[in-house]
Amino acid sequence: MNIGIDIGGSHIGVGLVGASGKIINKKEVDITEKDKKNIEKMIVNTIIEFIKNILKEQDITTKEVGYIGIASPGTIENNCIYNVVNLGLEKLDIAKILNKEFGLDVKIKNDAKCAGIAESMYGSTKPVQDSIYLCLGTGIGGSAFINNKLVEPRYKSGMEFGHMIIEKDGRQCNCGSRGCFETYCSMKVLKQEIIETLELDTKTAGAEIVKEIRKHMDDLRIKPLIQEYIEYLAIGISNLINIFEPETICIGGSFVYIGDLIIPMIVEEIQRKELLFNKRKEKDIKIVLASLGNDAGIIGAASLL
Ligand SMILES: [Zn+2]
Repeated sequence: MNIGIDIGGSHIGVGLVGASGKIINKKEVDITEKDKKNIEKMIVNTIIEFIKNILKEQDITTKEVGYIGIASPGTIENNCIYNVVNLGLEKLDIAKILNKEFGLDVKIKNDAKCAGIAESMYGSTKPVQDSIYLCLGTGIGGSAFINNKLVEPRYKSGMEFGHMIIEKDGRQCNCGSRGCFETYCSMKVLKQEIIETLELDTKTAGAEIVKEIRKHMDDLRIKPLIQEYIEYLAIGISNLINIFEPETICIGGSFVYIGDLIIPMIVEEIQRKELLFNKRKEKDIKIVLASLGNDAGIIGAASLL
């Protein structure tokens, strides 16, 4: 058994994970705007309390736990978390704190890598050896697997799929560059465009916006917007296929709620524009949805080698 922790842009999840990636006990909480005033303290206190409660409820001690794994956004260097822009977090040496508190090893890895690991071990990409995991959420993250092994550069995290430039002099990105994939294809961008076009309240919840997208797919105001979204997504995904030649591309993040509608349109667009260097039959462009949902981060963090 290991403990898996998922630090997200808007929520924290902590789970005790057993064999085969099964979650035995899980605690979750949303991060509010108020929490962000002292985010370091909130994250640390929440995680410590959740772990203590889980151990108590399962009636076990830390001796029965292998290690603590953390799926985190931002930059991870020397087992420390830096620069999580969405949380306003500059530096958090959480490994040291948790190690001191529980006496367990702490491993931290990029959240999209953890989710990709979980999908490749227990989820949608389990049947294949070469795959890409693409998370379309607030931003765009991802991971790549070749021969079932996570592709990991030596010095930096890499796999910044969201920051491949797909439009010269395009939209301004948070990273300082222009025309990045995520400024066109993150779910945050799509939702924002839907809110503006349908003149929805800016506070409309994500689930509501997704419902609106589904309802208005043929709406003349929404159609060109979706079409443009698909054109950019097809370019980004084709770039990844041309570089990695994966057997399957797995998409996670809040995209999963509209994926069934959008994926066939992406495949059609890739074929229509002949975007692949090595041509494939339509049935061989396999784009699937992540199957572990919000639990992927926890399960992946608890399944690190
Ligand atoms: Zn960027």
